[in-house]
Amino acid sequence: MGFFTKQNEDLSEQWRKKYLNLFDEQNRVEHTHQEKEKLLRQFIIQLSIITEGRDKHLDPILIRLRNHIKDEFDLATLKMELKTFNESVKNMPVAKKNLKADLLFDFLVKQYKDSAQQTALRDLQKLVNSEETMIEQVSDLFIEILKIVEPTEDQKSSDSEEVVEPVVHVDINVVSQQLLQYFGALAIPAVFEQPAELLKEALLNPNHSTMLFEEILNDLVKLLLRIKEYGEAEQQDIDQFLLHIANQLSELNVIVTETNAAANSSVKSRNKLDQSVFTQIRELQVQAIKVTSLDTLKENVNQCFKTIAAEIKAHHQQDQEQQQKFQDHMAELVNKMISLEVESENLKAELKVIHTQATHDTLTGLPNRNAYNQRLKDEIARYKRYDTPLTMAIWDIDHFKNINDTFGHKAGDKVLALTANQLQESTRDTDFISRFGGEEFVMLLPNTDITLALKLAEDLRELITTTGFNANGKAVPVTISCGLTEFVDDDTEDSFFERADKALYEAKNTGRNRCCII
Ligand code: GH3
Ligand code: MG
Ligand code: MG
Repeated sequence: MGFFTKQNEDLSEQWRKKYLNLFDEQNRVEHTHQEKEKLLRQFIIQLSIITEGRDKHLDPILIRLRNHIKDEFDLATLKMELKTFNESVKNMPVAKKNLKADLLFDFLVKQYKDSAQQTALRDLQKLVNSEETMIEQVSDLFIEILKIVEPTEDQKSSDSEEVVEPVVHVDINVVSQQLLQYFGALAIPAVFEQPAELLKEALLNPNHSTMLFEEILNDLVKLLLRIKEYGEAEQQDIDQFLLHIANQLSELNVIVTETNAAANSSVKSRNKLDQSVFTQIRELQVQAIKVTSLDTLKENVNQCFKTIAAEIKAHHQQDQEQQQKFQDHMAELVNKMISLEVESENLKAELKVIHTQATHDTLTGLPNRNAYNQRLKDEIARYKRYDTPLTMAIWDIDHFKNINDTFGHKAGDKVLALTANQLQESTRDTDFISRFGGEEFVMLLPNTDITLALKLAEDLRELITTTGFNANGKAVPVTISCGLTEFVDDDTEDSFFERADKALYEAKNTGRNRCCII
C-alpha cells in the first residue's frame, strides 16, 4: 500500500488526467471520424445517384457500391468495390483537356512544402503536359500524385504523436482532387457557373478547416442535385419550348400557305419566302440539337422568329402593294371600260344622229336621196334573187312654186310635211318612200307589179287631192302627179329611174294631177 503515497497519489492523478484527456481526445477524434465517414457515405451515395447514367459500365458498380454503403460499412468489400470502380474509371477515355492539371499541381505544390515533393510534383506536371506522356489514364495520374504526396506506412508509424491527423488530411485532399476531377468532367450550366467556381476555389484552398470541408461537401452535393434537377427541368422546358416552336411554325406555315394561295401574282416572292422560312427552321433545328442552354436557344429562336416575321411582313407589304397595284389597275381598267362604254353609247347615238341626218330629211322625216340610192340597190338585188316584181313611183307636187308664192314658204313646208305623211301612212311597211328633193318623192314598191302600183298610186293621188290643206285659215289646193314604171331585167338603177321620171314628165305634160306608167 506504500505505493499509494502522496507523491504516488499525485503521480497517479496526473496519469489519470492524462489518460482521461487522451480518452477524450480519442473520443473526439473517433466522433469526428464517424461524422466524416457518415458524411462521406452520404456524399458517395448522392454522388453515385448523380453520376448514374453517364457510363453504362460504371452504372452497375455504382449501384452495388451504393447498396454496400447503405446496408453496412464493410471496409474490405468497400475497398474491393472501389478497386473495381477504379479499374472501370481506368478504362474510360481520359479527358485531359478537362483536367486543369496545372491548377492541380499549383495547389499541390502549395500544399506540400517539402522541396523533394515539390520537385517531384513539378517533374510530374512537366511529364503530364509533354506530348510523349505515358500517363494516359486519369487514375494513373492520381496514383503518380499519391506516390509523391501520400506518406508511407513507415512514415506514418514513426510519427506516433499524430496518428490520425495525417490520414484525415490526405483523405480530404484525395477527395478534393476527385471532386475537382468530377467538376472537370461535368458540363455545368451557365447559371451554376458562379457557385461552381466558388466551390472549386474552396476545394483548391489549402487552408480549409475540417468543418469548412464538410460544408463544402454539403454545398457540393446540393449544387450537383440542383444541376441535375435543373438539367431535367431544362430538358422539359426545352421540350415544351420546341413543341411551342413547332406549333408556332406550323401556324406560320398556315399563314404563309394562305398568303401564298391569295397572292397569285407573287409566286416568285412567295418561293423566296418559303425558302427563307425553311432555311430558318432548319437552322433552328440544328441549333436546338447543338445548344445546351435554354436561354441561348430562346435567344436563337426569338431571333429566328424576328427574321421570319420581318420577312413575312415584307412579303405581305410587297404582296399588298402588288395587290393594290393590281386593284388600281383593275379599277383603272373598269373605269376605262365604263368610260369606253359611255363613249361607245355616245358615239352610237352620235352615229345614229349622223346616220339619221345623213339618210333622212329633217322637214318630213322621210329617208333622203342617199337612203333611196342604197335602198334601190337592195331592192334590185332582191328582185334578181327572188324574181318578184319591183315598181318605182315618182311623185311631184303640181305648181308648188305657186303655193310658196301664194301662201308663203312656211305654208309650203307644211304642205310638204303633210303630203309626205299621207304618202307614208298609206303605204305598206315593206314599201319605201323617200324625199328625193324639193317637192319630189320617190317610192319603191317591192313585190308589186305596175298594175297594182298604178291602182295604189291613183288612190294616193286621190287622197292628197281631197285632203283639205290650209294655211292661215285659207284652203290650200294641192294636187300631185306620179310617173310609174316596173323594173325589167335589163334595167340599171339609172334606166329604171329615168323611165319613171319620163312617166312623171308625161303626167305633167298631159295635164297634171294624174298618174302615168311606162
Ligand atoms: P310643176 O307642176 O311643173 O312641178 O311646177 P312646180 O312649181 O311644182 O315646179 P318648180 O320646179 O318650178 O318649182 C318647185 C318649187 O318648190 C321651187 C322651190 O322654191 C320650191 N321648193 C323646193 N323645196 C322646197 C321646200 O323645202 N320648201 C318650200 N316651201 N318650197 C320648196
Ligand atoms: Mg319639181
Ligand atoms: Mg312641182
